Parts: sequence; structure tokens; C-alpha cells
Amino acid sequence: MNSEPVRGSRLGSVSNETIEGVTLSPRQTISYTCPNEHVSELIFAAEVEIPELWDCKKCGQSAKRDGAEIEPAAESEQKIVRTHFDLLLERRSRDELEVILQEALADLKERRRKNAS
Ligand SMILES: [Zn+2]
Repeated sequence: MNSEPVRGSRLGSVSNETIEGVTLSPRQTISYTCPNEHVSELIFAAEVEIPELWDCKKCGQSAKRDGAEIEPAAESEQKIVRTHFDLLLERRSRDELEVILQEALADLKERRRKNAS
């Protein structure tokens, strides 16, 4: 009775594929690869803007988002329009930048106050 292979068991793998293929969850897993080939996987909400770069969890270098399509032309264009802020972004973490921004704003306000008086 048990000698016949159960063909229906194939359904198991098929349903697994379906679960993977369908994006029911409002989240997305994005993986980043750093220059040292470390892969960091991060989960983002679907509606959030995905950053192109992320600090590697292992070595702290900037890891590039996997599957991010940066065309060579677009990349050279980026270099031309690269601002001081862009350069800061490469060296500083978001938290550090927040502090720098607050300082810069305070400084600006101070200067405006001096100009007004
Ligand atoms: Zn790394």
C-alpha cells in the first residue's frame, strides 16, 4: 500500500515558491554588500525610501545596495554635482550629520541675528 510514491507531496515545494513570490508583507528585505564582500540584510517598510548606501555591520565601510542600478553615466554625473554635503555623507553617520546640521543651523541663526542688529 505504501509502495506508491505520493505524487501529491510535490505540492509542498510548489506552495513554498508561491509564498516567496508573493509580496503580501508590507516590508522588504534589502541586502547591502560592502567592499569586503560582507552582506548586511536590512528590513525596510515598503513605503520607506531605500538608501543606496549603508554602513557595513561588520567592518563599518559603506556597503552598496544590492541590485541598485547605478549606470556608469549616472555615476559620473553624480561626481560632477557632488556637494560638500555628499562628501560628508560618505564619511559621517546619519546621527553625526544630524548634530552637524543642528550646529550649522544654530550658527546660521546666530549670524542672521548679528546682521540684523
Ligand atoms: Zn564589511
